[in-house]
Amino acid sequence: MSGSADRVLVVGAGPVGLVAATCLAEAGIPVTVIEASDDLPKDLRASTFHPPTLDMLDRFGVSGRLVERGLVCPKWQFRDRKEGLVAEFDLGILKGETNHPYRLQCEQWKLTEHLRDMLMRDGGVEILYGSRGLSVSQTDDDVTLTISTPDGGTRELRARYLIACDGAHSNIRKSLNIEFEGLTIPEIFLSMSTHFDFAKAIPDLAPIAYVTDPSEWAVLLRTPSLWRVLLPTDPSLSDEQVKDPAVMESRLQALCPNPDRYDIVHSTAYRVHQRVAKSYVAGRVFLAGDAAHLNNPLGGMGMNGGVHDAVNLTEKLAQVWNGAPLDIMGRYERQRRKAAIDTVQAQSLRNRQIMAETDPAARKAYHDDLRAIVADPVRHKDYLMRSSMLGSLKELESVA
Ligand SMILES: Cc1cc2nc3c(=O)[nH]c(=O)nc-3n(C[C@H](O)[C@H](O)[C@H](O)COP(=O)(O)OP(=O)(O)OC[C@H]3O[C@@H](n4cnc5c(N)ncnc54)[C@H](O)[C@@H]3O)c2cc1C
Repeated sequence: MSGSADRVLVVGAGPVGLVAATCLAEAGIPVTVIEASDDLPKDLRASTFHPPTLDMLDRFGVSGRLVERGLVCPKWQFRDRKEGLVAEFDLGILKGETNHPYRLQCEQWKLTEHLRDMLMRDGGVEILYGSRGLSVSQTDDDVTLTISTPDGGTRELRARYLIACDGAHSNIRKSLNIEFEGLTIPEIFLSMSTHFDFAKAIPDLAPIAYVTDPSEWAVLLRTPSLWRVLLPTDPSLSDEQVKDPAVMESRLQALCPNPDRYDIVHSTAYRVHQRVAKSYVAGRVFLAGDAAHLNNPLGGMGMNGGVHDAVNLTEKLAQVWNGAPLDIMGRYERQRRKAAIDTVQAQSLRNRQIMAETDPAARKAYHDDLRAIVADPVRHKDYLMRSSMLGSLKELESVA
């Protein structure tokens, strides 16, 4: 057994784990973060911050720093591969509802890097790298986490509470036998990043575009340094076949002809799941972020929802730490599971449905509806409240 038990353990130093650690440190609660990697992962994953997430992160002075290192994007689009622009949404309409009426395109590792720097500067939080949470047990008074250590051994850590932010394959969720209900999306998602400037080639293109097509939908996303293209891919192909340079080149050329070869600086192909854990609270252990819910990336809501979990969870946990009954954590589960199911799952599945629809009449109906929404200021605002996740946060206030 190691370290003082008078602390909270956070398993996983991704965006959700570090936001949770920052909130707890702000409340004066000692925290130990356990991270499996030797350093913070820097892979290219989430790139979109929605308005309420930036509003929440403002409290730590982080949003301004992300804005300095990101791209402010008030507008985003639905397009069609053949017809071009279908509907352009303008988040400027949300002024008055948020201090950040835009989507910020900024890599998620910039958030974790800022948070880690702040935590190391301010103290109160230790991070154990190269240490993997293996399993958890608990009594009425505390939790015990078994971890693997960088020297190949194992060790036990004790704490009052534990927050599992250990991502999609969460060992903690598995160790608690919590069901991860849902489905796996049939197609593989191929993400390719390139310096090619799509905005020059497609003059009316916004930095975020969801492109409908009956045989191959696409997403075009600008990040501060690159453009990212997401394409659905046949799951029966091997990783080598999917990422064959000639195949990726011809798929990009078909999407947007380029007189030169595309310089693909990064590519990744991954399976996508839509799942929500059956419970988020198990005694003194709480699930948050990808450990609790997974969704397709169409709408950019996974990390954002996870950050919202972390803020909600730690507000309540700080009250429990200071004497409130443990059962107030049940409201965390009721609120955040509802957000995951009613907003994140529903919205991301609907986006995929709109983008992949094959029936011509249904496609036309979707396009007509999107055009009608942006033409009507009330519907336009209502759509943006939902897609930016501001609406779901308001609704949760009434969840008992
Ligand atoms: C290509 C792609 C694009 C995406 N785009 C967006 C987007 O634009 N917007 C958005 O909101 N979301 C997006 N997402 C989803 C987003 O990346 C995730 O929802 C987000 O990373 C979840 O954060 P997390 O902290 O819960 O988990 P993770 O980011 O997975 O972090 C988990 C951390 O825990 C560590 N870990 C894992 N297991 C253990 C263990 N047993 N013990 C200790 N440490 C452990 C890992 O090393 C990692 O550091 C995207 C995902 C992908 C793959």
